[in-house]
Order: sequence, then C-alpha cells, then structure tokens
Amino acid sequence: TKPEYIVSACLVGINCRYNGGCTHISKIEQLVVEGKALAVCPEELGGLPTPRNPVEIVNGAVKDKFGTDQTIAFNLGAQKTLEIAENANIKKAILQARSPSCGYGKIYDGSFTGNLIDGNGITSSLLEDNGFEVFTDQNWESKEID
Ligand code: SF4
Repeated sequence: TKPEYIVSACLVGINCRYNGGCTHISKIEQLVVEGKALAVCPEELGGLPTPRNPVEIVNGAVKDKFGTDQTIAFNLGAQKTLEIAENANIKKAILQARSPSCGYGKIYDGSFTGNLIDGNGITSSLLEDNGFEVFTDQNWESKEID
C-alpha cells in the first residue's frame, strides 16, 4: 500500500497540540494503520515545542497570544510537510480544522476568543498552492475519498 494522504498527527492520537493533547478520530487513525496515510505535525516539524503557546494568524501575521512572531517556524513546518508529501507522491491531505497551520476554509480570527473567519492555515495554504486537495477532519468523509 502506498500512502495517499498526509494527515494532521493530532487527529490520530499523537499528543502534539499546543496544549499537549490531541483529538483522536478512529477512522483517520485507521488510514495510518493501514499505510494509506502519513501523520505529520507541521508545528513540531517547524521546531516548536509541545506544549507551546497558542498561535493564531493576526492580521496576516503568525503570532502567539503573547505577541511573539512565529512566522519562521510555521513556514518551515509547512515547507517540511510539503517535502514529506512530495517525496511520497502524495497529493491529498486531511488536516485539523481551524488550526493556524492545518485549518482549511475557516480559521480562528486572531483574537484568541474562538471566533472564526474565512481563511487557511499556513501549511494548508502551501499545500493548496502546490495542487493538493485539502480536506479537514470535519468534511473529509462527505467528500469523495476512497
Ligand atoms: Fe495538529 Fe496541525 Fe496543530 Fe500539529 S500543527 S497540532 S498537526 S493542527
């Protein structure tokens, strides 16, 4: 079996979220177990520790809630994720909704209050720009994924 998808590592039980936790979606984990998906965490690939301060995209800038700019780490993580996917000939991704790295379609608005705006995370944007089909954990089952 060759992997077809990149998936956010935090969706498959890996404790890589900013708060040290994860979300655990059994059907997505199954894709990894079956060799159909590779799990990556762009923020860890970018060199950020876990746990870490929460980050949002604030007026186009990547900042943690204390105002520290994290653009370099986020861009590096996105680039590494793209390289991992391209090396494995993967062109599809299932990513964690709303995240400043992995979110797609809707992300948090930069106010750290849980409000959402239209937009994509840094990794999702880079993957889309490189021709990937990007899904989130919220919509992947309703799209035609085989
Ligand atoms: Fe999950 Fe993506 Fe955030 Fe890593 S960067 S914790 S994979 S949402």
